[in-house]
Amino acid sequence: MTQIKNIGVFTSGGDAPGMNAAIRAVVRTALYHDMQVTGIRRGYEGMINGDYEFLHRKSVSNIIQRGGTILKSARSEQFKTAEGRKLAHYQLKKHNVDALVAIGGDGTFTGAKALYEEFGIPVIGLPGTIDNDLTGTDYTIGYDTAINTVINAVDKIRDTAESHDRLFIVEVMGRDSGMIALRTGVASGAESVLIPESKDDLVGLFDRLENGRKDKSSRIVIVAEGEQEGGAFHIGNIVKEKFPHIDTRVSILGHIQRGGKPTCMDRVLASRLGYAAVEALKAGRSGEMIGVIHDEIAYTPLEKAIEKSSEINLNLLKIVEILSL
Ligand code: ATP
Repeated sequence: MTQIKNIGVFTSGGDAPGMNAAIRAVVRTALYHDMQVTGIRRGYEGMINGDYEFLHRKSVSNIIQRGGTILKSARSEQFKTAEGRKLAHYQLKKHNVDALVAIGGDGTFTGAKALYEEFGIPVIGLPGTIDNDLTGTDYTIGYDTAINTVINAVDKIRDTAESHDRLFIVEVMGRDSGMIALRTGVASGAESVLIPESKDDLVGLFDRLENGRKDKSSRIVIVAEGEQEGGAFHIGNIVKEKFPHIDTRVSILGHIQRGGKPTCMDRVLASRLGYAAVEALKAGRSGEMIGVIHDEIAYTPLEKAIEKSSEINLNLLKIVEILSL
């Protein structure tokens, strides 16, 4: 057991719904154990610039249901340098922060790992990203909310597609990962899903449009933004050229996918993980990300967690195809 008196908590990288619920859980659990909590605002940028504040029980009242992050988030190029991290360490010492809970994605954990290795500060990472692309957890905080936001939006687009007999190509987030696209493709009854992890998706789509059912009044194609062909507009142009008789439109959902009230699942996940982070630090654990695997709390070394998860269920692609025949 280590004597941690003051836990620093921060959110970093892209914001994700449920980050607030995680901050709340960290604060309330730490206070329960008579530890202090220092909120570090604007991620590593604020860590370097001394943007710190004590968080009390009341500081995290009424935030469990709010999207975004009360601690704000930022990207920091300075922190990627040894000099920047030295400044961050100086500020952490100055504010008597003796352990950290880092909430973010792989970039955030790479930074946290550097702090831990270079200065020996105990660090626990919590997976806060809508992408669900980390190794060591079945789900990341924000993913469930994001996919529900997407299917709500696609349902609306489907109404227009149906009324006008159109094909809609809908681009969803996922620079390197097709997680969001694949799930929402199944859930919205898409014609095809185009993701970075799978090749020849476009050939499959063309085949469907050429040889598939002709009596469909609406078609939805979900494209992950990182798909190799170069994004929804590019794909839209190719489809329009090859199939001029199909009324094709493109819709990019963009940042609406990051916002909004976290779902029940994300709130529960964030609460469990925030609680577990403090318990882990208290028990002397460090350098790990905490996630859930098969509904059990799981600890994964940060260096492993940042390996992008390749466990995409490609069988879902087949299901999309068969169910939309
Ligand atoms: P998301 O998955 O939502 O993009 P993320 O945590 O991966 O979240 P990044 O912007 O990649 O988001 O990283 C957040 C911050 O972590 C960066 O702005 C930077 O300050 C820090 N960081 C990223 N990579 C490194 C690195 N190699 N070394 C040190 N710090 C890093």
